[in-house]
Amino acid sequence: MRRGFKAEAERLADRTRAQLGLQPYAPLPIRHLANQLKVEIYAADDLIDRSRIEQLNAEQPGAFSAATFHLPDGRTVVVYNPCSDACRTNSDLAHELAHLLLAHDVRELQQIAGHTFFTCDRDQEDEANWLAGCLLLPRALLLKEIYAGADAAAVAQKHDVSLPMARFRINTSGVLLQARRSRTPGTR
Ligand SMILES: [Zn+2]
Repeated sequence: MRRGFKAEAERLADRTRAQLGLQPYAPLPIRHLANQLKVEIYAADDLIDRSRIEQLNAEQPGAFSAATFHLPDGRTVVVYNPCSDACRTNSDLAHELAHLLLAHDVRELQQIAGHTFFTCDRDQEDEANWLAGCLLLPRALLLKEIYAGADAAAVAQKHDVSLPMARFRINTSGVLLQARRSRTPGTR
């Protein structure tokens, strides 16, 4: 990840959340952000038969989480996997919206031997994951939870995010250290 991106992402997330009228520690209703960005959200089984999605999940578990499409008429549509649980979906949608906020290139669709593949840029994936975490679990919210004694599982459940995202944010945001410092007398 390029130098300075992490701090930039925290600021972009704070700015985006402020534009939605959210307090720094308030949860982000991801569909409010989608509305503000004029992005339409559909479950994939609104568009194709659910059995085809279930088949894909069985053949390639985790292959399809969510994807963004820029339609010829100018609409932007995010399609998510309806078989994922609500927490995972929330994190996946935040990831897709993060790509849009960061003005990343649309992932290319490539046809190889009759199969359609998304080509992913690893750096852009890392950036989108990082920003998604900042949007859903801003530092102020995490600090509040950590002070209250919550762990990753509690944070994930309470704020409807995937457990890996909650763990990732708690481990990388520095809030554990900050909470420990403020609890230990004489280290301020
Ligand atoms: Zn992505």
